[in-house]
Amino acid sequence: MEMEKLVSLCKRRGFIFQSSEIYGGMNGCWDYGPLGVELKRNVKESWWRDMVAAHDDLAVPSGAPSAYEMTGLDCTIIMHPQVWKVSGHYDLFHDFMVDCRQSKHRYRHDQVRGRWLTHRGQRIFVATELVADEGLAETQQRALKFFNLRGKDADDLAWEGELVSLTTVADFAQVLGPDAKELGTLTPPREFNLMFETYVGAMRSEDAKAFLRPETAQGIFVNFKNVLDSSRVRVPFGIAQMGKSFRNEITPRNFTFRSREFEQMEIEFFCHPSQSPDWYRYWRDRRFRWYTDLGLAGERLRLREHTVEELSHYSCGTADIEYAFPFLASGDFGELEGIAHRGDFDLRSHMEGKLVRKGNELVVELDAEGKPRHRGSGKDLSYRDDLTNERYIPHVIEPSAGADRATLAFLCEAYAEDQAPDESGKMQTRVVMRLHPRLAPIKAAIFPLVRKDGMPEVAQEIYRAIKPHYTVFYDEKGAVGRRYRRQDEAGTPFCITVDGQTLTDGTVTIRDRDTLEQTRIHKSECLAEIRNRMGRGARG
Ligand code: ATP
Repeated sequence: MEMEKLVSLCKRRGFIFQSSEIYGGMNGCWDYGPLGVELKRNVKESWWRDMVAAHDDLAVPSGAPSAYEMTGLDCTIIMHPQVWKVSGHYDLFHDFMVDCRQSKHRYRHDQVRGRWLTHRGQRIFVATELVADEGLAETQQRALKFFNLRGKDADDLAWEGELVSLTTVADFAQVLGPDAKELGTLTPPREFNLMFETYVGAMRSEDAKAFLRPETAQGIFVNFKNVLDSSRVRVPFGIAQMGKSFRNEITPRNFTFRSREFEQMEIEFFCHPSQSPDWYRYWRDRRFRWYTDLGLAGERLRLREHTVEELSHYSCGTADIEYAFPFLASGDFGELEGIAHRGDFDLRSHMEGKLVRKGNELVVELDAEGKPRHRGSGKDLSYRDDLTNERYIPHVIEPSAGADRATLAFLCEAYAEDQAPDESGKMQTRVVMRLHPRLAPIKAAIFPLVRKDGMPEVAQEIYRAIKPHYTVFYDEKGAVGRRYRRQDEAGTPFCITVDGQTLTDGTVTIRDRDTLEQTRIHKSECLAEIRNRMGRGARG
């Protein structure tokens, strides 16, 4: 599937629009249209239902070391600035950027690639933002232009191997930047903190500076004691939160994949240190299954364990759930969710202050005067097991997902083109969004075949019977074939049509989006039938 087709369908049918489009758009910001808002809500609600609301606190789920409780939180976007100093985001949450003095473009250092070549004794590095074959083609073309050669002279260029990252190049003097005409126009890489800053209150002073949260997780850690003191949860238990996060990404791109404002769905799961490796494995597998249950069942989804070199300094294990988005080079995957074993790093940080690793230990980072670089709260965030009397700092397993990336993956996976007969029985190409029924923005569409003979009245009756329970859509305009097509593009799994036969025997047709099969049921059974078919869908 080409990404352009999906992006254009998203705009045409009201899934996703560019933010502030009438003013030329806002880079890295996206709005969800009438269909998109329902889809994204269904993604978030499925997550909340499956992880929190419908979780059985009393049963031991398959693969889990024991039963566990789940609860939720909804914290503010602007928190005490010390939260981000202690968590490490203030000092460490940055990417490296390079600027081009000539083109005035800005790039993320690790996203620029290129290749070395020599021509007439001159060795240069031709940089590009493109990957794979497109990157090779672009570097070739730009090298020809740089050396004033024609296409037929391409063999004169002595290339040294494949595209490599700009991070492998120490000196930029011989680098031809991705949009530059001359060599050596890129600045050395500089740190760029991804947190958005703002000021709270009337004074724009350093003291009034605050940050828009770059993740929802910290709100959970700083409320750990509140949750323990106000509810009867016992370790092991999880706290879930979903909501907006903000990152001033240097190069937002790939549709909603890398946005500057996005929504996260995060769980912090607190457990006894001795059981944490088992809980890590449980959550990794449980979260992977959530995506496959909702339709990401093919080869485009994978679970990837991080190598030891990739692990954060506090983590004993991390896995990413990744999807082969169509805008990536073939063989590349993009992160949908990370599941990390974080040990006691977060709770200890908020007790003691910002931590750093010293050998095998985590210790409070000190400044030049020997004082903590960023002070913790000083509050006791340990847990006392009232049955064993043991007091300890729980370990944390963190499944951290993005609602927008998940929504995008479901959209990519759903997009399909097949052949279906039109009004006259002629086969035509049809665009169909094969969204899982739980995620589909509209569950059923109700049509009167024609706008007369009492058919609209019967169809409206059916519409009103289902609407309090499911999102349904009533449509009486245009040829029925066209109405089916519109619903196929919206991902509506079922269409109910009132026709001539309804007026004699009270039956209607129900059409299945994927099989195109039409069966007749009695008009009074529509709600039950939708419920039944939705149930079947929910079980995958
Ligand atoms: P990446 O390496 O792609 O920037 P990350 O490892 O920084 O992602 P995390 O900090 O682990 O991401 O955030 C958890 C989840 O939040 C990600 O798996 C992703 O689904 C989502 N997410 C993070 N950054 C963005 C973004 N800029 N736009 C949309 N979703 C995001």
